Amino acid sequence: ARKGKTPEEVVKRYLQKVRNPPEEDCTICMEALSGPSGYKGPGVGGISRAESVGRLAQCGHQYHLQCLVAMYNNGNKDGSLQCPTCKTIYGVKTGNQPPGKMEYHVIPHSLPGHPDCKTIRIIYNIPPGIQGPEHPNPGKPFTARGFPRHCYLPDSEKGRKVLRLLLVAWDRRLIFSVGTSSTTGESDTVIWNEVHHKTEFGSNLTGHGYPDPGHLDNVLEELRAQGINEEECLP
Ligand code: NAD
Ligand code: ZN
Ligand code: ZN
Repeated sequence: ARKGKTPEEVVKRYLQKVRNPPEEDCTICMEALSGPSGYKGPGVGGISRAESVGRLAQCGHQYHLQCLVAMYNNGNKDGSLQCPTCKTIYGVKTGNQPPGKMEYHVIPHSLPGHPDCKTIRIIYNIPPGIQGPEHPNPGKPFTARGFPRHCYLPDSEKGRKVLRLLLVAWDRRLIFSVGTSSTTGESDTVIWNEVHHKTEFGSNLTGHGYPDPGHLDNVLEELRAQGINEEECLP
């Protein structure tokens, strides 16, 4: 969804004007900020010299406007922008996870390393389908292997917090994506996105099991990198 704005309008919303560009290179195109953008793609013309460089309002990193527009056009055009240097997210980041279902329930057993609580089991189910314009090969089918995928969290205060944030990540289509599996090498298939899940319950044969004392903090950090944090998702 473009929210009715052109890519240039979306990008400008997050930018401050820069009157005198510094003697530095734009890290998107590697050309000097004081000169023109090195990006010469379709649909990026018509940007006047006066507004050719912008500063991202929150983090302060500067780029050619044309380069940011090109970067935005390469993404899923959801109205958000992520600074390529420091990863600060402007707007609400969403992904390209295909349609499916996320369910969870508590099971009355403890995970290794969490003897004092029960366990939350999350069940993700995504059927195969046809890729949309937000996917690598629009119009081509994608496969979906190993679904339903079962994942486990301790039913502790922190585990429930992670669950709440994972539900937000699911709604924003950030848990899975379509691409090439690094495990199997298969392309055009549903793959885990940047948020790690534990898919083994009582053992740790794959490395995706318990015990793993740092797991919940790692997941909170990975969710934060997707723009999902505890402060904005209080119950
Ligand atoms: P991937 O291999 O591209 O890896 C993406 C991320 O997911 C990486 O961070 C990786 O560490 C993590 N990951 C890989 N295997 C995982 C697992 N078993 N549990 C939790 N995290 C895992 O992503 P992918 O192709 O979505 O993941 C491969 C996994 O998918 C397989 O190990 C299996 O669980 C499942 N799968 C099952 C079948 C099947 O026929 N049963 C087929 C393909 C994949
Ligand atoms: Zn540039
Ligand atoms: Zn930045």
